[in-house]
Amino acid sequence: MNICKQEDGTYNVESSRKGKFYVVDLEKGECTCPHFQVRLRKVHGLCKHMQAVKDMCESRDDGCYNNIIDYVRSKGEVDSLELINKFNSEAVDDLLSRGELLEDKGRIRILS
Ligand SMILES: [Zn+2]
Repeated sequence: MNICKQEDGTYNVESSRKGKFYVVDLEKGECTCPHFQVRLRKVHGLCKHMQAVKDMCESRDDGCYNNIIDYVRSKGEVDSLELINKFNSEAVDDLLSRGELLEDKGRIRILS
């Protein structure tokens, strides 16, 4: 599931219909998808989008992914070993596999 954090702290989550995104706000416990709006809101349930965001947040140690991206962005380009030593290598790999970071000859930069 494609999840993209927004500047205001909410998440855009791609629905199973490709190209359509729902907005998840974990702080408020809300999602804009119909399933949540119609059924789950009343019972404070979690839809699959909220669950996906939660899973993602829990698997990342305290905003680690954003730290990595901010770090690379601030430097422009970072040696891949430096990045892996400084952060969690799984998180770096994940960002690479999702195309948020690009590796070229041992240097990592942000896909712009
Ligand atoms: Zn939802």
